[in-house]
Amino acid sequence: MPARRLTAGWVIPIEGRPIERGVMLVGEDGRIRAVGPDASVPRPPEALVENYDDGALLPGLVNTHTHLELTGLEGQVSGTDFAAWIRSVRELKAARSPEQFLAAARRGVASCFAAGVTAVADTGDSGTAIRALAEAGVAGVAYHEVFGPHPDQACDSLRGLQQSVAELARYATERLRLGVSPHAPYTVSGPLYAATSRWARAEALPLAVHLAESRAESQLLGRGAGAFADAWRERKIPLPSPLGRTPVEWLDDHGVLGEGTLCIHLVQAGRDDLDRIARSGSAVAHCPLSNRAHQHGDAPVAGLLSRGVRVGLGTDSVLSVGRLDLVAEARAAGRLAGLDAERGLALCTLEGARALGLEAQIGSLVPGKWGDCTVIRCAAGSDGRPPYQELLASGPDDVLATFVGGRDVYRAGGPV
Ligand SMILES: [Zn+2]
Repeated sequence: MPARRLTAGWVIPIEGRPIERGVMLVGEDGRIRAVGPDASVPRPPEALVENYDDGALLPGLVNTHTHLELTGLEGQVSGTDFAAWIRSVRELKAARSPEQFLAAARRGVASCFAAGVTAVADTGDSGTAIRALAEAGVAGVAYHEVFGPHPDQACDSLRGLQQSVAELARYATERLRLGVSPHAPYTVSGPLYAATSRWARAEALPLAVHLAESRAESQLLGRGAGAFADAWRERKIPLPSPLGRTPVEWLDDHGVLGEGTLCIHLVQAGRDDLDRIARSGSAVAHCPLSNRAHQHGDAPVAGLLSRGVRVGLGTDSVLSVGRLDLVAEARAAGRLAGLDAERGLALCTLEGARALGLEAQIGSLVPGKWGDCTVIRCAAGSDGRPPYQELLASGPDDVLATFVGGRDVYRAGGPV
C-alpha cells in the first residue's frame, strides 16, 4: 500500500502536543512515520496526499466493549428487569444462523469505522466477530465466550471453549488477539471460572468478564436471592458457595482477576472491591450509557481512576444502547468523574489501548505505532486553542474519514 500523507486543521496525537495545521505521514508498512508541522514531515513523491482543513485528525477510537454479532437487533428487547432482558437476548441469539451472525458482525465492523473506531474488544460466542474483525483489519481483542452455571458442566464447557479457541486461532493477526470470556457470575459456575482462568493464564490468553453489573448479580452471590437465584433454583442449579461475597471478591476467590483480565461494567463495587481490582492489576471497560439504560446505577469510575486502574470506554451492544457512539460514552464518563474534555478524548483512545495492553501499537499518533486514525469535522478556531471541547461534543455523523494502518476504511458520504 502506498504511503499516505494527511494534513488536518488540527492533529491531536493524544501523546504529545496538538498541532495546528498538522501533518501525519504513514509509511507503506502501515506504521506512522512522522507527525508534526507541515515543514517537518517528509513528502515522499509516491505518497497519497489528503487535506482536511475542516477536520481534526485523532488516533482511531478504541471501544473496549462490544458485541458486534448482535448488530441489527437494536430495539428488539425492552424492559428494565435485567434477568428477563438476558433471557430475551438469549432467545434472539438462538434464532440467528451462523451466516446471520457473520453478516451482522461485518455490519458492526462497518459501523465502528463510520464512528471513528479502529480497535475493539469484542465478546461473543458465535465465533464470527473475530473473522469479521480480522478481514477488515481491525485491531484489538476478540474474546470467545463460555457459559455454564451448573458446576457439573464445567469440564464439558471448558473442553468446548478449548476446541473453539483452537479453531478460531487462525483468525488472530498481528493486530488482533484472540481471548476468552467466561461470561458473567450469573451464567458461569465457580469451578468453570477457576478452570478457565487457569487455562487462559497458562496459554497467555487475555480474559474478559462481565462483572458486578446488576444488583441481581450481587444478590445472587451475597444472599442467594433475587431474580438470578430464583432462575437457578428453578433450573436445579446449586447456588454459589460460600455466599456472602461481593462479585469482585467471588471472582478473586476463583483466580479470575489479574493483569490479563478486563472487567466489563463494574458498577456494584465498594471501596474494598476497588482496592482489590487495583491490587490485581485488572483493567476495566467502563460502559456508562449501557449502565444507565439498564438502570444499574453509575460505576465508580472516579474511584477507579484515582487508584490508577486502567480504564477504557465501551459501548456494549446495540441492544443496550442503540447506536454505538464512543464519544458519547466519553462525555458521560467525563461528567461522572469530573474530567475535562482532553482527558475524555484520552479515555476513548490511549487509555482504552492501555486497558487492552495494546498501547505500544495503537491509541496515539506517534511514530512506530499503526497508522490508525480518524478525522472528525471541526471548524478551525482562530484562538489557537486545541478543539477538545468541540471534539468531545461530536458524534458519529461528524466523522469524515477513518484509516487503519494508513488504509482508508471509511469516508463520509461515499464508498472508500
Ligand atoms: Zn456486554
